[in-house]
Amino acid sequence: MESSIIGYSRGDLSAKTFQAFNPRTGKNLSANYAHASEDDVSRACDLAKNSALELAQLDGKSKGIFLRTLASGIEEIIDDLVVTMMAETGLPEPRVRAEAGRTSGQLRMFAELVEEGSWVDARIDLGQADRQPLPKPDLRSMLRPIGPVAVFCASNFPLAFSVAGGDSASAWAAGCPVLVKAHHAHPGTALLIGQKVVESLKACNWPEGSFSLLFGDGRTIGKSLVEHPAIKAVGFTGSRTGGRALFDLASKRPEPIPVFAEMSSINPIFVFSGMSTKQTEEFASGLLGSATLGVGQFCTNPGVVFHPGGEWGDHFAKLYSRMMQEISASPMLHDGILSAYENGLNSLSSCEGVKSLHRASSKEIVEGSFAGTCVMQTNARDFLADEAMMEEVFGPSTLLVSYESQEEMQKLAKVLEGQLTVSLFGKDIDLKKYGELVAILETKAGRLLFNQFPTGVEVCPSIVHGGPYPSTSDSRSTSVGTGAIFRFSRPVCFQGFPNDWLPDELKDENPLALRRSEG
Ligand code: NAP
Repeated sequence: MESSIIGYSRGDLSAKTFQAFNPRTGKNLSANYAHASEDDVSRACDLAKNSALELAQLDGKSKGIFLRTLASGIEEIIDDLVVTMMAETGLPEPRVRAEAGRTSGQLRMFAELVEEGSWVDARIDLGQADRQPLPKPDLRSMLRPIGPVAVFCASNFPLAFSVAGGDSASAWAAGCPVLVKAHHAHPGTALLIGQKVVESLKACNWPEGSFSLLFGDGRTIGKSLVEHPAIKAVGFTGSRTGGRALFDLASKRPEPIPVFAEMSSINPIFVFSGMSTKQTEEFASGLLGSATLGVGQFCTNPGVVFHPGGEWGDHFAKLYSRMMQEISASPMLHDGILSAYENGLNSLSSCEGVKSLHRASSKEIVEGSFAGTCVMQTNARDFLADEAMMEEVFGPSTLLVSYESQEEMQKLAKVLEGQLTVSLFGKDIDLKKYGELVAILETKAGRLLFNQFPTGVEVCPSIVHGGPYPSTSDSRSTSVGTGAIFRFSRPVCFQGFPNDWLPDELKDENPLALRRSEG
């Protein structure tokens, strides 16, 4: 039996246990995992609190060494990860290898960021003793770690948004201890990575408490974690209900803390009129690839397409649903996601004016948690009349919505909730013609795409993987790319301190050669 990792030791073995489930076979896997006890949570939080000061003093070089050690450590266990993660998630081997590569790549990206150091946004306002009518004080500010961060593993990214994924990497890079709540669907994958984290921390002489990994339910262990006074911020990827529950818990604490929850998004696509036959075929096949990638279980999966009605719309809808029929049922990450998908489709199909063009029958679902593809259709008038159609249906389905005029298109844009992405398909000249629509959409999403599909999120400094509510709980943040570090840091200003005492980032002589704002 396996238990949680609490600092450099293991957790309670006496609590109730759970097993992961193989979505391809529908059978439980043999390994048992003990839920963390309340004492485990307290111990992990106390250790994190005690390690926080030491971690905050680490320089960029030391943080870089740890992040690079962990990146290499993950590469060393890739074969074990392939076996365990495939069994727990039903994901194919190439996806496991690609996600492991992305995870190591993210860790190295943050290593590079902190080794260079300018991310701390050092600002210096030199004092002027002779300024009239009052002297100007010497003020210097920079970003400092926020403190222990609770991270909730994402079901749909067992590596890249789980134990050592983007949330944890950015928190460690900022200098924060990380307490991870494992996802019940992939505990074995979490443990393999967790053990590598501990090994890497010890090799780099980081203090105990820089990391803990907790198994258990969100509503008990997750809740206790978020409510513990040692925790200063939360990172989450999952459902709107889960993210919102954690946000509300964090807001009601005696000391409220920020929650960076990435939740639900239908990632709408707007198609302008005037596509040629060839372009229509290319668009339909690109949409198919994006909507069914990873069995539609990506945060940026395009769920709704707003397209011109009439002859072109009818042709496109027929073409696209024929293509979707060719895609066979595939396993979803866990049975809860499959039932949420089926419930979502049932509720969509019961909306006034929604017609099902194709829905894979349950007969295709032979065993395990296999999901079939689905295409539904409606028009702008009915979509505008029922906000239930705006709910995320997480899986390989598309809702096609035809519009008749530019005015109708703008109304659709105006009613949209916050999104991670909005994509536009048309000619360059359409961007001028529909300028007002683009301006509206900019207020709705974190990333706008032109003639490109939203899946395949590039990990780089300029990416924004965030957006207005409900796509995230804080539209000022991104959970992918170097900008993710700002979620777990806060500005601190030093006024009147002698140069010798100041952190290197703020010293007159700029020993780290950082890019700084100096006035
Ligand atoms: P989830 O149900 O939101 O769970 C994610 C994590 O949050 C789990 O660790 C869960 O604990 C915890 N949690 C959930 N509700 C909680 C609550 N009320 N209080 C405290 N902790 C709570 O997400 P999921 O299991 O990954 O997938 C379920 C659905 O979420 C999917 O069907 C899909 O609709 C949506 N989803 C969306 C995205 C996206 O990027 N947009 C990504 C993944 C999932 P437990 O271990 O106890 O469940």
